[in-house]
Amino acid sequence: MVNAVVDKLDSLLEEASSKISQTADIKSLEDLQHEILGKKGKLTQVLRGLSELSEEERPHVGKKANEIKAAVQKLLDERLLSLKQSALSERLEKEWLDLTLPGEPVPTGRLHPLTRVLREVKSIFSGLGFEFVQGPEVESDYYNFEALNIPPDHPARDMWDSLYLGEKTLLRTHTSPVQIRVMEKRKPPLRVISGGKCFRRDAVDSTHCFQFHQVEGFMVDQGVSMAHLKGTLSAFAKAIFGPERKVKLVPSYFPFTEPSVEVYIDCFNCGKNSSEDQQPSSPNSSSVESGLVLSESCRICGGTKWLEILGAGMIHPFVLRVVNIPSEYTGFAFGLGIERIAMLKFRIDDIRLFYESDQKFLEQF
Ligand SMILES: [Zn+2]
Repeated sequence: MVNAVVDKLDSLLEEASSKISQTADIKSLEDLQHEILGKKGKLTQVLRGLSELSEEERPHVGKKANEIKAAVQKLLDERLLSLKQSALSERLEKEWLDLTLPGEPVPTGRLHPLTRVLREVKSIFSGLGFEFVQGPEVESDYYNFEALNIPPDHPARDMWDSLYLGEKTLLRTHTSPVQIRVMEKRKPPLRVISGGKCFRRDAVDSTHCFQFHQVEGFMVDQGVSMAHLKGTLSAFAKAIFGPERKVKLVPSYFPFTEPSVEVYIDCFNCGKNSSEDQQPSSPNSSSVESGLVLSESCRICGGTKWLEILGAGMIHPFVLRVVNIPSEYTGFAFGLGIERIAMLKFRIDDIRLFYESDQKFLEQF
């Protein structure tokens, strides 16, 4: 009887060993474990037969049964580990990823051309020792006009078609009010620029918009003259349009500067042939020479060889008096349109392109 049970156990181990080694996956190994060691498993059935044995025989067979059970469990564990490893290597083989392949490109934003030019202008003047100061976009009539020598009913007000928010409040038409705000609070020497949005009641066309951007700058100290103005603006023009640029000052009129000038640079498209005064051009001068279109047909300057870039002048004594700057001080001031500079710099002929948010246009910068 004992031998029969022991034989049964031995053959059970043999059978289990062979079946375990043949399992192809974890699921079939689990089924097999259930078949052998489960509640109704083969080994359990053999152990049930132990009750038929005598008291003396039982311990011997029980020990044997436990050994077989442990041996089967060991085989199962080893097989499970090996199946897991091969499943992993199979996955690694099948699901490999080439990390060197370029990924899906993510479209990135970039700075608006006007922001780029505004930052460049700020950086140039910062290099010349000018400090940047912000001013409000909603201004009082006093700061926008009266303190700048433009009293009510003065005909100069026609130069600015203003957007009023109330009787004495308006959207600032220029950045010049910042001059007054700074000079009211601080004593010379002053070297300040300001910049931002300005608003005028202009109909929108290729060169006008009701909203635009200006940078205003001024310097106040003892002995400041037109020479300082020209030197500063020449340095600016060379920094932004190239070191070979020449600057020309042409008399003009602004209520808050005296004398006032418009500042021109020689045309960078046909400017290498420019002279102080435009000469009547000979028939040959309209020909194409070394890649540059000569003045007669220049698209940038329209043949005038000069491009207006900004307005400037010596700060009017009235303005300095309004803010109680002592008479031994003088100063210059200038204002430039960021759109104007950007249009020249990037050869853009329609101001509306800046505000239309057209991806095709903006992606070029
Ligand atoms: Zn030109």
